[in-house]
Amino acid sequence: VIEFKDVWKTYPMGTEEVKALRGVNLKIKKGSFIAIMGPSGSGKSTLLHLAGILDTPTKGTVLMNGKNIEDYSGKEQAKLRRENIGFIFQRFNLMPQLNALENVMLPMITADKEKAKKLLDKVGLSGKYNRLQNQLSGGEQQRVSIARALANDPTILLADEPTGELDTQNTKIIMELIKDLNEKDGLTIVEVTHNPLSAEFATELIKMQDGNIIR
Ligand code: ATP
Ligand code: MG
Repeated sequence: VIEFKDVWKTYPMGTEEVKALRGVNLKIKKGSFIAIMGPSGSGKSTLLHLAGILDTPTKGTVLMNGKNIEDYSGKEQAKLRRENIGFIFQRFNLMPQLNALENVMLPMITADKEKAKKLLDKVGLSGKYNRLQNQLSGGEQQRVSIARALANDPTILLADEPTGELDTQNTKIIMELIKDLNEKDGLTIVEVTHNPLSAEFATELIKMQDGNIIR
């Protein structure tokens, strides 16, 4: 579904530039579950941002469904992102003034309370619909953010350090959930992680170093 062809990404840094990606080639196949590991600064988050159409390459091409993302208009890119891609982050990024249910409903194209409830049930939070962020544990907050990522039925789930702030037990719970989404619902998953336990749930492991993939 997503293909990187000789992708370079540089960020301007004053008068210098940072080469975050240096000629990445990668195929993310439909239904795959990929873990990306590598040292800090090796380009993992940058790669994930490009895969999620949050950014475009400096050089090279990122293809989505066979078409260069830069050949889609801004509007089409936003639509692709909204309809296909769910994001999960290390910090759960919930809105503190909204309860769990409202957080899940937030990104919905058409508000659907029953669906939001079903998604919270799916992640094991039935009965906690009305909890605010500060009334949920870290693991529970991450479960809300997974439910929120599923709000528009994405086909691809991109997770940047989803278990970075969680203990071993919650890491296992969250990764089991993500694994189920891959196995039972057929979602394509790309997970960036520093944690070998978390990476073990994936079926493919990619290692990055200095802006490129090493095997
Ligand atoms: P970590 O494991 O610490 O999250 P990472 O592998 O995700 O690291 P990236 O965030 O992709 O690394 O960063 C790759 C390189 O690009 C780093 O040198 C980083 O400092 C730089 N970088 C990332 N984002 C920006 C930005 N917006 N502006 C300038 N430089 C950036
Ligand atoms: Mg990162």
